Amino acid sequence: MEREWELQATCRHEDPDLWFSKRSVAEAKRICLEVCPVQVQCLEAVLARESQTADTMRAGIIAGLTGAQRAALAAERREQVPVEKRQAPPGAGRPPAPCGTRSAYNRHIRKGEKPCRPCNEANNAAYALYRATGSTKVATGR
Ligand code: SF4
Ligand SMILES: [Zn+2]
Repeated sequence: MEREWELQATCRHEDPDLWFSKRSVAEAKRICLEVCPVQVQCLEAVLARESQTADTMRAGIIAGLTGAQRAALAAERREQVPVEKRQAPPGAGRPPAPCGTRSAYNRHIRKGEKPCRPCNEANNAAYALYRATGSTKVATGR
């Protein structure tokens, strides 16, 4: 059954190949992140839908993210603080991470906002790191 937001998905009216061809990755991402009004809902839906999917089987650009980026985001969320801590009132504990960081990117997502450009760039950079090292954490030496 279709959900309400899916009726507003920009990709409904476009050639689906655009989201599944290596040649049009940049254009697909641009549409998802800058044009589509339901990117946030789309992202949550695909993360839920792919929760049992092997990382390498996450196909296409969805919600502006490649399969590997979605896998990295899912992995990062699994690592994050337990739910009890996440529900601390705003302003409690550490100050929120500024825009342009992966934490701020995730905060946008949690709040149902479309991530701003610096946050998208931070997320993309973290993804590149993940692809190069298998981890989203910057190596700290030993
Ligand atoms: S964000 Fe999701 S719904 Fe919107 S265009 Fe991209 S894939 Fe389609
Ligand atoms: Zn931001």
